[in-house]
Amino acid sequence: MKLITAIVPCYNEQEALPFFYDEITRVAAGLPDYNFEFLFVDDGSSDGTMEVIRGLAGKDERVRYVSFSRNFGKEAAMLAGLTEAKGDFVAVMDADLQDPPSLLPEMLSYVVEGDETGRRYESVATRRVTRKGEPVIRSFFARMFYRLINHISKTEIVDGARDFRLMSRLFVDSLLKLGEYNRFSKGLFSWVGFDTKWLEYENIERVAGETKWSFFRLLLYSFEGIVAFSTAPLALSSVAGFLFCVVAFIALAVIVVKTLVWGDPVGGWPSLACILLFSAGVQLLCMGILGQYLSKTYLEVKNRPVYIIKEKK
Ligand code: UDP
Ligand code: MG
Repeated sequence: MKLITAIVPCYNEQEALPFFYDEITRVAAGLPDYNFEFLFVDDGSSDGTMEVIRGLAGKDERVRYVSFSRNFGKEAAMLAGLTEAKGDFVAVMDADLQDPPSLLPEMLSYVVEGDETGRRYESVATRRVTRKGEPVIRSFFARMFYRLINHISKTEIVDGARDFRLMSRLFVDSLLKLGEYNRFSKGLFSWVGFDTKWLEYENIERVAGETKWSFFRLLLYSFEGIVAFSTAPLALSSVAGFLFCVVAFIALAVIVVKTLVWGDPVGGWPSLACILLFSAGVQLLCMGILGQYLSKTYLEVKNRPVYIIKEKK
């Protein structure tokens, strides 16, 4: 019998986990032709998440877990899950039931049997078509981010894509070959290629607990995505620098000619001050962009592990 691994990153999910476990075992019971492995990745939770997981592991031998020494972030948790997973098919899903496990049988059918035309997929991904229940500003900035990044990156990053995905062993092994430290999974999933089937569903609000993503954290995450999958900002700053040089050169010529023809009535220092401020600002901005890439490179070069495991089963 083939094995399906469900990877569940958990960060302070003690309220949601019992609901999740009930739901996933119900779904597993509906797929008697498969063995299951529920792999919980405790991302350094500070509440009773680990106790809940140990409790589940004690009564159900399909439950495995990995516990981090501190909070390393969801990307690290997903990587740990993918590394530890033994399944022939591997699914990643949230603990809060925003990624409905009830979709698993349908997802599985696309990987195992294929669609109506018999085409088989190496991965089945999900995207939400609405952002119902989300703050308006957050949705607005999310949309802007996806438009921007798809403009400047060759790797397609689908708007509304969730990390909820079912993958074949081949797909997982390909993902694991990408050893980068700054992981932006939404891009990595697409970068490895293969045929991916997209399923769509309406946004579902979490069953219990709170979202771990503040606006600021999401903003930083979006920078990570841009730096990881596009070098356009670098090119842009070079182009801007070049344009400013051209403008400065023309202005210089105009001033020289003006001075020679009409003499030099001193004046215009306010405009000079503005120009100075402006060009200094642009320089700092470009240096900041450069710094972003440099800092990411710095982190890659240090070659630190993405996560540290404290305990596992
Ligand atoms: N998560 C994690 N580490 C973190 C933040 C979140 O493992 O540092 C997990 C969290 O427990 C949940 C999933 O990632 O299972 C998605 O987080 P959340 O539901 O807070 O995000 P949202 O669905 O609101 O985008
Ligand atoms: Mg959630």
